[in-house]
Amino acid sequence: MDSDERALKIREKFPVHLKNMFQLMGNDEKKATGSASLFMNLETTLAKASRKREDTRDPLQNYHKMTVAELQQMTPAFDWNTFFTECGLQDVDTVIVGQPEVLKALNTMLEKNSMDMWKDYLRYHLVRGLASYLDDNTYKETFSFFSTTLRGVTEPKPRWKRVTDQTNSALGELIGQVYVDEFLPKGTKEKLTEIGNAIKDVYADRIKNLDWMSDVTKEKALVKLSTIVMKVGYPDKWKDMSSLTVDRSSYARNVMNANEWAMRYMVNKFGNPVRRDEWEMYPQTYNAYYNPSNNEIVVPGCNIMVPGYERVLADDAILYSIIGGSTFGHEITHGFDDQGSKYDEKGNLNNWWTSEDSARFYAKTAMIVQQYGEYNPVDSLRINGELTQGENIADLGGIIMGYEAFKKTKQYIDKQVIAGLTPDQRFFLGYALAWMINERPESLAAQVKSDEHSPAKYRVIGPLSNMPEFHETFSIKEGDFMRRSDSLRVKIW
Ligand SMILES: [Zn+2]
Repeated sequence: MDSDERALKIREKFPVHLKNMFQLMGNDEKKATGSASLFMNLETTLAKASRKREDTRDPLQNYHKMTVAELQQMTPAFDWNTFFTECGLQDVDTVIVGQPEVLKALNTMLEKNSMDMWKDYLRYHLVRGLASYLDDNTYKETFSFFSTTLRGVTEPKPRWKRVTDQTNSALGELIGQVYVDEFLPKGTKEKLTEIGNAIKDVYADRIKNLDWMSDVTKEKALVKLSTIVMKVGYPDKWKDMSSLTVDRSSYARNVMNANEWAMRYMVNKFGNPVRRDEWEMYPQTYNAYYNPSNNEIVVPGCNIMVPGYERVLADDAILYSIIGGSTFGHEITHGFDDQGSKYDEKGNLNNWWTSEDSARFYAKTAMIVQQYGEYNPVDSLRINGELTQGENIADLGGIIMGYEAFKKTKQYIDKQVIAGLTPDQRFFLGYALAWMINERPESLAAQVKSDEHSPAKYRVIGPLSNMPEFHETFSIKEGDFMRRSDSLRVKIW
């Protein structure tokens, strides 16, 4: 367990928060203190049985296929068939378990602890999950621990903003339809497709020319690359949410209805063929993803929006760095990072690398683990190079591909100067622009410990430190902070 000062303080405050919550649920102080202490023991036991975040990265190590009978035998204290039936899942015969040791620990805990304790445990999680939609005291108590203590946020957002956020997260598929019609600049889908294809082309060239990969593996990498499905802008088919009830009963009830709808939607997929047309993000969500199980990248339309360029498209230097680099380039690289490289072109877990190529690849990823492990964003905490390697590999691959693709645009070839900046300067500044963010030390500390993404600042410093084109553009000399020396410079793709 972490023993730095921040972690100790958080572990001191958590039981106080638990006690307050149990009191808010109607228990007297003595009973609430008892429940809090049992709860803390239980969570600590579960946490100790769980793998470290970085140990959950390897998809092969976290894939244990077993029959329900085997699962039942491993955890006799838990009635799985009743659980599945209650969830609405009929005739489940096989499951994939990520961490069998956690279920074994849970089994021991089920045998050892009283039913009353489990009721308290579940009651807390139910109320905490809904706290944002309940009375002010419950909301303030959870805000004080999860936002102030854990992330350093002192003031809640105004209520109307919180409700808007919640509505967007529950009904985003409906709001997205309005958003696409009213807010996306004309030509968004076409431009995203153009940039996505340009990045794919550059990638293919780079793979062909790699000096460390054998021809057999290259061939397979090229097949995987060419079969990546690109979903851009917004879904061709929207989810049908007509069975969801939204009424004036209560805020919490409506949120629960939406959660139930989402749960039923997932359960209904069980036993049916994989749906490859689905989106896991809304068009108005400023993010993107690569899904290795479908070998697809999904880039919501709003990624094309750049501050200062509302409703019109920015110039290619900016779009090729943000959309080409941070988005398409980044997501495609996930198909070839420490995790994605273990899935084949159809999205099946299947190692397609020769062992020599794997060894050479991991020697390179070890260098990026080392690079980020040197960064110290807050207190004495360093970035966890193992945990963040997939994202860091994707950032580095992304910016290189974005730059290569930008070099083929008219703006680059014509050396157009805009607002006094050369194409190169605009490209790198555009890249940094997308990562501008204010962060509190508490939030940085929480991110460094639990997030597989490096803090934003290092998502700029890290990849650019490895890029000679960046050094040349801004005359960065050997020995400067943002220039890795040649022997340490990471180059994978
Ligand atoms: Zn990523």
